[in-house]
Amino acid sequence: MAENSYDCIVVGSGPGGYVAAIRAAQLGLKTAVVERDRVGGRCLNYACIPAKAILRSADLLTEIEEAKDFGLEVQGVTVDFAAVQARRERVVHTLTSGVAGLFKKNAIDVIEGSGALTADGDVRVGEDSYAAGSVILATGSVPRSIPGVELGGRVIGTEEAWALPEVPGRLAVVGAGASGAEIASAYARLGSEVMLLEALDRVLPTEDEDISRVVARGLKKQKIDVRTGALVEGVQAGDAAVTFTIGGEASEADHLVIAVGRGADVQGLGLAEAGVALDERGLVQVDGALRTSRGGVYAIGDLVPGPALAHKASDEGIIAAETIAGRPTHPLSYPDIPRATFCTPNVGSFGLTETQAREQGYDVVVGKVQYGAVGGGTVYGDRTGLVKIVGESAYGELLGGHIVGSRATELIQELVNVRLLEGGFPEVARIVHGHPTLSEAVMEASRAADGWLIHG
Ligand code: NAD
Repeated sequence: MAENSYDCIVVGSGPGGYVAAIRAAQLGLKTAVVERDRVGGRCLNYACIPAKAILRSADLLTEIEEAKDFGLEVQGVTVDFAAVQARRERVVHTLTSGVAGLFKKNAIDVIEGSGALTADGDVRVGEDSYAAGSVILATGSVPRSIPGVELGGRVIGTEEAWALPEVPGRLAVVGAGASGAEIASAYARLGSEVMLLEALDRVLPTEDEDISRVVARGLKKQKIDVRTGALVEGVQAGDAAVTFTIGGEASEADHLVIAVGRGADVQGLGLAEAGVALDERGLVQVDGALRTSRGGVYAIGDLVPGPALAHKASDEGIIAAETIAGRPTHPLSYPDIPRATFCTPNVGSFGLTETQAREQGYDVVVGKVQYGAVGGGTVYGDRTGLVKIVGESAYGELLGGHIVGSRATELIQELVNVRLLEGGFPEVARIVHGHPTLSEAVMEASRAADGWLIHG
């Protein structure tokens, strides 16, 4: 094969693109990745990973502050934010170096620059053209703003929020989705005075209502000024502060973080030229195997419909690569993709909320227990966490699982696995769980849904 010719060219090296490239190479395809910035994409360099690194420092600080409850006196704790940020950079460097190492190990070429499709369905990077058997577009997303407000100066996006050089005195965050809740929860505990402004009537509005309630309580405990139904207007960014109004009331912060969602990063990709169709929301139209309207061109991750989550992008990358290689692959069940939000309290969920299940006409049963119902909740110091099972009564189907509290992001996986292995909540209720663990609360909530809660 000629030097500038590949079986598969992946544009973008985030968690969608790099996983797709590795899977393609594993299956014997001569593969290249085009990346214009740093390997690892936004998730590893600017979003998921930096966020979790900083949240980990905030979580540790919270534990130290609560150590007294466990009989430990810790004095003189200070936040050295430069060191927190230095750790973030080390974490990012370790993980992105790992991806670069995996490219090398799998003989994947990295082409530096901005990739775009040509009318022939090949890839152009600057002046160079590369022949491609297939192309996987994996360029991710760009931040959206609110009407009339441009990002810049003291009005920042989520990426800038995680890279602030110091803990701001006053931070206002617009949007209480996963990003906004995480940013608010991190900075409030590291010392900022935080205002969290959500247009809808509750925080994490796509989560189950019971979960939103527990999260709102947790955020308020962190002294976050949570405002729902909040309309931010009149944003004026000055040198020293940002001023704005909320429902007519004047307010001010050192930084205003815009965390109101993201849009597909399709600019400059040559989609129209190559005949790749977009839907009415500006997302790339794909079928179940991530094929676009242009033969040989695939798109994955934040470019296509479905939740904008790294692990969803990775799985779509695997499906696309396996399809290109002519291998059997698996369908992706979008509702069963776990959602993990790492604010305090943690949230893990999948499937339908109780309201959605009722709206869809299921004969719904609900099982709910607090972590305090099982020994682990009391032993480990989180009695207020909540597990909620949304099930269907006739066959015990697990329609949705919703967990808020310590380690919720880990605990949710059990319910996802059981569902995808075709079990229901009656099975979870009868699977032996280790004692004393928080996972016993998942078992008890399943028993509650099945009508025989033991502890409670
Ligand atoms: P989002 O769409 O999840 O949340 C945006 C929030 O902003 C919504 O609650 C919306 O109602 C609110 N909003 C919109 N316009 C507003 C306005 N003018 N004023 C006030 N509020 C307004 O978007 P996000 O939090 O930016 O996240 C983007 C994507 O990244 C999502 O798919 C999210 O799930 C994902 N993400 C995931 C994680 C995680 O898995 N831990 C973390 C961060 C982001």
